[in-house]
Amino acid sequence: TNSTVNFKDYIRVIEDFPTPGISFKDITTLLKDGEAYKAAIQALKKQVEHYNIDVIAGPEARGFVIGAPLALELGVGFVPVRKSGKLPSKTISASYSLEYGTDQLAMHEDAIKPGQRVLIADDLLATGGTIATVVDLVKQLGGEVVGTAFLIELEELQGRKKFEGIDVQSLVTY
Ligand code: IMP
Repeated sequence: TNSTVNFKDYIRVIEDFPTPGISFKDITTLLKDGEAYKAAIQALKKQVEHYNIDVIAGPEARGFVIGAPLALELGVGFVPVRKSGKLPSKTISASYSLEYGTDQLAMHEDAIKPGQRVLIADDLLATGGTIATVVDLVKQLGGEVVGTAFLIELEELQGRKKFEGIDVQSLVTY
């Protein structure tokens, strides 16, 4: 059934959200459909299983929705990357710029062991700022980023250029 699911049919596009000129890709319409959600995770699994992954890291919140089920499918662990101040044990952090100001992402310092092969997963690749920050964190811990995986890649924003040399896998592009 996987090959019969056209994922774009399940993604709702909302114009001018959250601000005028933005064409927002809403994945909630895919997630609420059990068959489409499962097919998406299984399709991503096929695209990434050759990386020989030890652990998947995903940024809150939608990175959890993709990364955790993908980790279960692959039989590997999942590491949540969170906004600063949320994780209870010792953390490392990295800053990234937003439209207005900056924000910080954090990981537990023992989340990844040096040399582990890490896949980074999120729902959508836009400018790449979020994932470049996760790459930075994984490297701080000595992890090897073997690839990145997304449901959606917004090609014209050229996000993959922010982490050149690292593979990008996506299910659908706009
Ligand atoms: P980036 O850091 O510019 O690549 O932005 C990626 C992050 O912004 C992801 O975590 C997405 O969840 C979110 N994002 C940006 N644009 C959209 C969109 O059109 N739909 C859903 N999420 C988006």
